Amino acid sequence: VNVVIIGNSAAAAGCIEALHAAGANANITVITDEDKAVYGRPLISYYLWGKTKEQHMYYRGASFYEKNGATLVTGTRIAKIDAQAKKAIAADGREFAYDKLLIATGSSPARPPIEGLTDKNTHTFMTWKDADGIKAQLTHDTDVVIAGAGLIGLKAAESVLAHAKSVTVVELFERVLPTVLDNESAAILEKLLTEKGIRFCLKQSVAKIVGAEKVEKIVLSSGEELPCGLFILAAGVRPNTQIAKDAGVTVNRGIPVDEFSRTNLTDIYAAGDVTESKDHITHDKKIMALWPNAYLQGEAAGNHMAGVSEEPPKLIPMNAVTFFGYPIITAGIIGGEGQTGILKETGNGVKKLYFKDGYLQGMALFNAVERAGLYTAMIKDKIKIEDPYELLQEGFGLNWYEKSVRQQKLSQ
Ligand SMILES: Cc1cc2nc3c(=O)[nH]c(=O)nc-3n(C[C@H](O)[C@H](O)[C@H](O)COP(=O)(O)OP(=O)(O)OC[C@H]3O[C@@H](n4cnc5c(N)ncnc54)[C@H](O)[C@@H]3O)c2cc1C
Repeated sequence: VNVVIIGNSAAAAGCIEALHAAGANANITVITDEDKAVYGRPLISYYLWGKTKEQHMYYRGASFYEKNGATLVTGTRIAKIDAQAKKAIAADGREFAYDKLLIATGSSPARPPIEGLTDKNTHTFMTWKDADGIKAQLTHDTDVVIAGAGLIGLKAAESVLAHAKSVTVVELFERVLPTVLDNESAAILEKLLTEKGIRFCLKQSVAKIVGAEKVEKIVLSSGEELPCGLFILAAGVRPNTQIAKDAGVTVNRGIPVDEFSRTNLTDIYAAGDVTESKDHITHDKKIMALWPNAYLQGEAAGNHMAGVSEEPPKLIPMNAVTFFGYPIITAGIIGGEGQTGILKETGNGVKKLYFKDGYLQGMALFNAVERAGLYTAMIKDKIKIEDPYELLQEGFGLNWYEKSVRQQKLSQ
């Protein structure tokens, strides 16, 4: 069986490893328009910062493809999928015949309508190459302006801070990580980042970039002007859906897939940031642009291609990230409608848990990440909770969970 995978990142790796583990004996071709073997995309910030060396960027060892019966084709962009003839066709005309296809094309930076924006005066921060581009231009005299205080914008800010003269992050919303955190938890992170020296301009947008060849200054929606020698656009991402759409795959914002990562077309699967998948808590289909989810979806696709009946993954938005060594773990729904949040300060950290109708639905843990795995399991398994505050007590742990599972089983 010929399996073609478009894109070579988390979702691709999950699919390749599932096919191999299933003994599918598949002939796998992985096609990427980048020029690297699979690397940890989130690591580009540590690479730019200087905390990670090139050789540690790779997600798998040098023999990964060979060992798993896969061939990697780099520097090649797939321009078209012919779903009738079952071929992926590259921009240079090469054709890759498939029996099963995985679309794992991820996403690209959104380009909001900013006056004066050109390819020359703007950097993005999605790929290893992007990090190299920023590195090449950044000096200790550079004023950096970043549009967007999402995960990518904040990671960019963290990684350039030590190498720049100043770092300013401009965000349309009133808080940092606006789609992940609520105001109260975002304020904790904003304080930390501000103390480190990052300046925030919230509830503002970049209206204009002055300097077509090289950025000279940034004009904000408020009229304020910021000196700028390097501008990074991190104002959201757009799923790379065009080739799927052209082939007749159903596309909303992302490609809707089922729990086995199937699209509406037979033998065409999609996984990772390009998809919309079911949130296990809300049951909504949404884009959960996170590395572990991309891997799990790719794995589910590989299992299904190989005819392995594994229980499908329970996907929830969950992220573990550090800023300046300060760990933050978020999961589930944070600040959703009808939720009650409870908070506990623990030394230098804060834990915030979010409940609705007696169930734990979300968590935001700042520098206090113990029990994160347990809380996540409670969110996923939807265990009824009598006393929310019990979860924040010192001795709270695994025993409680076992007791509650026992009680739940008995009551069923
Ligand atoms: C700076 C940064 C920090 C992040 N931090 C975190 C974090 O802390 N935790 C977390 O969970 N997630 C994080 N993420 C998100 C995470 O990296 C993504 O969720 C994950 O990489 C998605 O994997 P994917 O397989 O869907 O595709 P992607 O990683 O998006 O890769 C898709 C690949 O397909 C290629 N491609 C697209 N179209 C074509 C085509 N037509 N032909 C050939 N190739 C094509 C692209 O060039 C790209 O190489 C971060 C991302 C960034 C950029």
